[in-house]
Amino acid sequence: MADVTLREAQEAVDEYIRTVGVRYFSELSNLAQLVEEVGEVARVMNRTYGDQSTRAGTEQHALADELADVFTVVLAIANQTGTDLTAAFLANMEKKATRDRDRHHNNPKL
Ligand SMILES: [Mg+2]
Repeated sequence: MADVTLREAQEAVDEYIRTVGVRYFSELSNLAQLVEEVGEVARVMNRTYGDQSTRAGTEQHALADELADVFTVVLAIANQTGTDLTAAFLANMEKKATRDRDRHHNNPKL
């Protein structure tokens, strides 16, 4: 399986929305969709690692697929708001690395 860059992933989602879909949902609809998908991740995590059991007859979705759903909606929101996730990710990691340089090593709870 070939690796996919963030830029390629953004382009793939754009292509999907413009061909399989008709147009982008509104930004606020995609925000609601993102929250729905995060909830689906929480459901899988709770039933896999938490205290909730899975009811008989209910389907347990795969965590990987639900995480991919979240990622896809994030990519769509990035596209429709003009966000370059490659640049944003690199800048964000640099910010975290600088800001948290000693923070976690000095945390006695870790
Ligand atoms: Mg889902």
